[in-house]
Amino acid sequence: MRPKRAPEEEQQVSEPQEAGYDVVILGAGSGGYACALRASQLGLRVALVDAAELGGTCLHRGCIPTKALLHAAEVADEARQAARVGVQTTFDGVDGPGLLAYQQSVVDRLYQGLQGLVAAAGVDWLPGRGHLVAADTVAVRGEQGTQLVRGRHVVIATGSQVRTLDGVALGARIVSSDQALRLERVPTRALVLGGGVIGVEFASIWSSLGAQVTIVEALDSLLPAEDPAISKGLVRALKKRGISVRTGARVASAHEDDDAAHLVLEDGTTLDGDLLLVAVGRGPVTADLGLAEAGVELDEAGFVRTDERLQTTAPGVYAVGDVVRGLQLAHRGFRHGIVVAERIAGLDPAPVPEENIPRVTYCDPQVASVGLTEPAAREQFGDEIDTVEQSLAGNGKSQILGTSGMVKMVRRRGGPIVGVHLLGARMGEQIGEAQMLVNWEAYPQDVAPLVHAHPTQNESLGEAALALAGTPLHSHN
Ligand code: NAD
Repeated sequence: MRPKRAPEEEQQVSEPQEAGYDVVILGAGSGGYACALRASQLGLRVALVDAAELGGTCLHRGCIPTKALLHAAEVADEARQAARVGVQTTFDGVDGPGLLAYQQSVVDRLYQGLQGLVAAAGVDWLPGRGHLVAADTVAVRGEQGTQLVRGRHVVIATGSQVRTLDGVALGARIVSSDQALRLERVPTRALVLGGGVIGVEFASIWSSLGAQVTIVEALDSLLPAEDPAISKGLVRALKKRGISVRTGARVASAHEDDDAAHLVLEDGTTLDGDLLLVAVGRGPVTADLGLAEAGVELDEAGFVRTDERLQTTAPGVYAVGDVVRGLQLAHRGFRHGIVVAERIAGLDPAPVPEENIPRVTYCDPQVASVGLTEPAAREQFGDEIDTVEQSLAGNGKSQILGTSGMVKMVRRRGGPIVGVHLLGARMGEQIGEAQMLVNWEAYPQDVAPLVHAHPTQNESLGEAALALAGTPLHSHN
């Protein structure tokens, strides 16, 4: 049996250890555990504090379970559409508990591996809710009482959490992504509030699994941060799949009753569904952590203020991952964690330029990008840019898979490739080469002679580089 937790005021507070740690990390998600592993590799004494499981949002409530559902959705589509390739199958439906068990089995395997890694690295795992009582001391309230843990450096890695809008209260039918991941039944008519990454991924999952889906987005396109050509192509592709997309539609309120969820738009229209997913962004977890008292300033939205070295306004305190304003992506958190560990160890790692972090949305068709969109490149370089849009229509492997889509590349005129934007089934896997091109500032003429294996979707990147270098191969002009 678990020991009963003593009320807070009765708990004993231990004295801080004399020697203390080199680094105390608050939050064991992607940013926090990456920092712990790298710091330990560099010979530092590390404590990792978290009230929940090691692995954080990405492993337990984010990337991994969602991508497992997206894979199941792809399998359902393949089964339903097998006749296209001359294979006879019948699609009998979705086994909700079976789907959840598959999803959980993937999470469990990775969780076990991660626990082993952290233990093997010699990191001290301190389970409990932590808060700063000084810039160098974290109080950890665990099952045995409260322990004061001292560190020469403290890293805030508490991540982000779901948020909703005023007038949209979460409930049984109005849910966040946390609840949407645990549904035992596929909704029949699903409403999705917010056409960002989470909204589009869940819309894709539910549509593949048999739901009628409507996405409502306030701005003029889905995935509004992506290149306009890609967002437009995505809307076309989702509509073709039967997903209803309402852009330029602001939501005023939502309510639910026993039978349905109701979404009221600012123009007075009401949309009904048996489930409403709220996906309007995630907020930082920075409240009640003693940050202000320890001298760690927050911005107006509650994100931790840092300089480009991820140093907060309190000396010796750093912040990594989703608590730092910017892209809320697990791989950004990993990089932040590594960079901060190296700085603490006295190394001088390069800062992480935000626009060169790769972004992938795993809907069907997938969207992947790195670097500048065309409008962002125009803002920096005016008309001194060249762009190419290479359709996947001529790409053999894409035709085999039955996907349409495109590669869009942007270069600074006479200079390197500054942006790569991809749309198409499985195109997320091509982000590896795309990010090398942008981060290593490759010129199209450097890429043109490189041989891309045939038949792969990867060839489409080679073709786009050939076109930008002025030597297009599979082209009518
Ligand atoms: P988001 O910021 O990507 O999208 C939210 C969307 O909601 C925006 O397009 C916004 O215009 C819209 N919106 C806001 N208020 C609205 C209103 N009143 N009416 C209609 N639309 C409104 O946020 P998200 O999709 O919730 O995702 C949260 C974070 O998690 C993002 O930073 C995302 O990058 C990250 N994430 C990434 C992945 C991935 O990399 N594959 C997957 C899931 C989540």
